[in-house]
Amino acid sequence: MNVNRFKELIEICEKTGEPLDKVVLHWEMLDTGLSPEKVLSKTRFLFKVMEESYEKNKGKTLKTLVGLTGDNAKKMMEYIPFAFSGEKVFQAATIAVTIAESNASMKKIVACPTGGASGVVPGVLLTLKKYGVEEEKLVSALVVAGAIGKIISIHASLSGAQHGCQAEIGSGTAMAAGAAVHAMGGSPKQVSDAAALSLKSLMGLVCDPVGGFVEVPCVKRNAAGATLALLFADMAMAGVQSVVPLDEVIDAMDKVGRMLPESLRETGKGGVAATPTAKSIIDAFSKKFKMET
Ligand code: SF4
Repeated sequence: MNVNRFKELIEICEKTGEPLDKVVLHWEMLDTGLSPEKVLSKTRFLFKVMEESYEKNKGKTLKTLVGLTGDNAKKMMEYIPFAFSGEKVFQAATIAVTIAESNASMKKIVACPTGGASGVVPGVLLTLKKYGVEEEKLVSALVVAGAIGKIISIHASLSGAQHGCQAEIGSGTAMAAGAAVHAMGGSPKQVSDAAALSLKSLMGLVCDPVGGFVEVPCVKRNAAGATLALLFADMAMAGVQSVVPLDEVIDAMDKVGRMLPESLRETGKGGVAATPTAKSIIDAFSKKFKMET
């Protein structure tokens, strides 16, 4: 099975009648030598780490290096009205911010696909669990998310330093949207549509962490990613298709990533990192750090 495109996974599912997660496990075995049981047990372990990372840190004020974030998830947990986004979406955003703040405070997380974007996929999957989706279904959805990430890594990148934040939050959103569709019984084509809609919407997103620290704007972008993933999963389940297929969207993202200047690829020199406020925060932090050392 010489697979490296999502369309090939869809074709195999259509030819064999096998579900997408099983085809992905077979692909993984041929590619890495790991048996489907081994990959499933590793994926189950990662799901548990995601869950623990949320359960251990939810509702807490966390201390991060620069202190630009750490209490946002707590504020979100204490906010009840869900006036605009609705309970499920706000729940996913809250979980995403909890895990992203845990990452910023050096707690244990699953890099999915990276530390900076680690809140998006669990934000969506743990929300589905809270609303009754069985854990095994979510583990198989995480297998599917892994396949989307793997294909992006083959043809583009998952690194903000290489391709900007479209590669981190964009990829995480595509993985989460595809996983949600799979968990809800959508077809492989619907999985690819949800992922493509996500990547297209975040295409060109720059990597501009203030001071180079993964706090601002990273943490709140995880909330945006989880929210968009749920929206595009619903749209794909409703039958909305991506006019441009996922594989071509990934190629386009690769080209956009290669065009991004260095200042917008995790150097902390462009985007919001170059604003007067960001510069004065980092100046003050540097002075304080020098005095303390
Ligand atoms: S802004 Fe850069 S460091 Fe922050 S999440 Fe996005 S890619 Fe990662």
